[in-house]
Amino acid sequence: MRRRFEQVWEALARVGDGGAAGYHRFAWTPVDLALRGWFEEQAARRGMTYERDRNGNQWAWWGPPGPGAVVTGSHLDSVPGGGAFDGPLGVVSAFLAVDELRERGVTPARPLAVVNFTDEEGARFGVACVGSRLLTGVLSPADARELRDADGVTLAEAMRAAGADPGALGRDEEALARIGAFVELHIEQGRGLADLDAPVGVASAIWPHGRWRCTFHGEANHAGTTRLADRHDPMLPFASTVLAARDSAERLGALATFGKVRLDPNGTNAIPSRVDAWLDGRAPDAETVRAMVAEITAAARTAAAGHGVRVEVVAESTTPVVRFGHELRDRIVAVLGGVPALPTGAGHDAGILSASVPSAMIFVRNPTGVSHSPAEHAGVDDCVAGVAALASVLEQLACR
Ligand SMILES: [Zn+2]
Repeated sequence: MRRRFEQVWEALARVGDGGAAGYHRFAWTPVDLALRGWFEEQAARRGMTYERDRNGNQWAWWGPPGPGAVVTGSHLDSVPGGGAFDGPLGVVSAFLAVDELRERGVTPARPLAVVNFTDEEGARFGVACVGSRLLTGVLSPADARELRDADGVTLAEAMRAAGADPGALGRDEEALARIGAFVELHIEQGRGLADLDAPVGVASAIWPHGRWRCTFHGEANHAGTTRLADRHDPMLPFASTVLAARDSAERLGALATFGKVRLDPNGTNAIPSRVDAWLDGRAPDAETVRAMVAEITAAARTAAAGHGVRVEVVAESTTPVVRFGHELRDRIVAVLGGVPALPTGAGHDAGILSASVPSAMIFVRNPTGVSHSPAEHAGVDDCVAGVAALASVLEQLACR
């Protein structure tokens, strides 16, 4: 199993690898098409039936596609400068779990599928879990088609350039009706399992989270000739807002991050005319997220007013708390001999699907807890333990 894991992992790990700069695997780019090619090839190698659904999600079926299917998988895209494991570990483990079941001489009593959800990270178009949101109807096809990347390319244009049809996007009753249960294996994005000295665990809940765009409108001017008193510099209230966000998150037991910022005109010797900054907010409950974003917005307004700058704060996406169903989770914990259950602050396709179908997650230990970074890592022994755990879960859910 170890050797097979390393072989399959190696072939995939080369795609979109920027070395020290990490992975850049954005939706509907040539790198994404190479990843999709890899998925198709893995399906073909195993004699699985390959399908791409209306929303670009890829499926590999063991046995005829049909209702009551047990589905496993994750995503292959990455954040900018991402690690190798976030997403791909779940897809690789899914294919290897199929191999493991075949080696155990087990055949499914109901359909079993491996899935690769499109654009989970939202790195290119700004909205996360696009493939699963479209599938379940949480994201409208009209809104999705109009999403734009940093170069102004719409999702519809990007799909067409990649040979896919954006006209077919939308809630997919047929694909949804086939899923009896979804189990997503994922590298843990924290040190919960490392602290518990456990290679594998399950998810109890996903914190509610969202993304807010904060735009500060100031006035461009010369950095050398404009007196400080005459400036309307949007960078200053933005800087205050970043510090206010940290303060608010600390007090409320939440998380707030400004990880993306865009400046106009973005010149060293120019006072910016405009700062667009994106706030990522998360907390154990929705009320805390709301309270924190309200505090940060108020701080932004106060700081902006002090500099003669106008500010707007717009919610771009919000995702409610996900509490994974007890029934499926308890079954998985029992199969795996009482592994720990822990919450996470990271969003996942399993969280989106959980509103429509029974869903669960298996986490694999991340010794440093680092994720969304080239330093993200899981040991081979733990990855192999994850495959064995996933195979046992699939055997219990699909083969009896
Ligand atoms: Zn992920």
